[in-house]
Amino acid sequence: MDAYEELIEGYKIFRAEYLDKRFEAYRDWASKGQTPKSLIIGCSDSRVNPAILTHAGLGEIFVVNNVANIVPPYEKGESHHKSLGAAIQYAVNHIEVEHIIVMGHSGCGGIAALMADDPDERFDAGEDDYIADWVGILNPAKKAVLENCSPEDNHDDCLRLAEMEGALVSIQNLAGYPWVREAVQSGHLTLHAWYFHIDSGELLSYRPDEGRFRRLCQ
Ligand SMILES: [Zn+2]
Repeated sequence: MDAYEELIEGYKIFRAEYLDKRFEAYRDWASKGQTPKSLIIGCSDSRVNPAILTHAGLGEIFVVNNVANIVPPYEKGESHHKSLGAAIQYAVNHIEVEHIIVMGHSGCGGIAALMADDPDERFDAGEDDYIADWVGILNPAKKAVLENCSPEDNHDDCLRLAEMEGALVSIQNLAGYPWVREAVQSGHLTLHAWYFHIDSGELLSYRPDEGRFRRLCQ
């Protein structure tokens, strides 16, 4: 079966699950509109789908995916990243989500490109100018990691640090959006940084009181 046919087969399973077995509930979801309580900003990587990782059903999470789960800094007036800003603004001001989670992950190609020492491994700034510009938003994370990683350190360990630091930089950037800041200050909204370790399947959460990521649950 080719990839496109697999999508169609997957839709048939969705249809049987939601429209056949749970039709009344589906009609409720369809007629009442969405009221998710959480926004998850995750990577576009196909292995870290937030709905699958959290076993969320229809209507339960508002989702934004982009390369390396980046939130750019807030720009007043002329913004270069209106798509993401609009999603955050809609989630906070209209859906009134109570939680925003930025979820980084191991083996992130975007972070690897950001951190590559060898120029040949890096995305070409000419041919891949969109990618290079985008991951460059996390240069503050790269700088912080390079200050703490020496050439003798294991490169993969430094990448893991960069993936975690990238999520934290995005959280800092997120807190700079005026409507996010106001919702946090009023106590309505909480920001979280998560990190999904693909190899082990462990989901970590950043603990500001400890200054490190720890398992979200035992
Ligand atoms: Zn990624």
